[in-house]
Amino acid sequence: MPSFVINEKCDGCKSLDKTACQYICPNDLMVLDREKNKAYNRAVEMCWECYSCVKICSNQAIEVRGYADFMPLGAAVQPMRGTDSILWSVKFRNNKIKRFKFPVRTIPEGTLDTDAGFTTEPDDIDNPLLRTEPGSLGLSKLPDIDDIIQLD
Ligand code: SF4
Ligand code: SF4
Repeated sequence: MPSFVINEKCDGCKSLDKTACQYICPNDLMVLDREKNKAYNRAVEMCWECYSCVKICSNQAIEVRGYADFMPLGAAVQPMRGTDSILWSVKFRNNKIKRFKFPVRTIPEGTLDTDAGFTTEPDDIDNPLLRTEPGSLGLSKLPDIDDIIQLD
């Protein structure tokens, strides 16, 4: 079931060029109505409920509609993201609420080495290997057909 925006909570990410939910949606579904300064999901049938937009919205303005078979009568699941953890609040249909907190990182925010020590060369685009291969596999070279014949 798709995500939806609670208008009263959405501030349009204070009119940034690209809102957080636009930035994060892997399907490019979230858009900002610049007149109303409210975001919305423009193609709900394409939403795969990944919860990325729900998790990134700092105003908790996005929710995902739960399936009627397991979330009837007002049950809800809502995450709240912190810098080092995420807190999931699960509301059951008898109004009981349980909260689960999980760490989301092992290093301080903003310190990730995005290249992880691997370099990119201009002619890598013509290379059939994945970007970090063969080093990320712990190899100096991937086996080729000659290596396989020798194994036989
Ligand atoms: Fe609105 Fe949240 Fe999207 Fe920002 S991330 S535009 S506050 S719904
Ligand atoms: Fe996009 Fe995922 Fe949000 Fe759906 S739940 S709108 S696919 S970010």
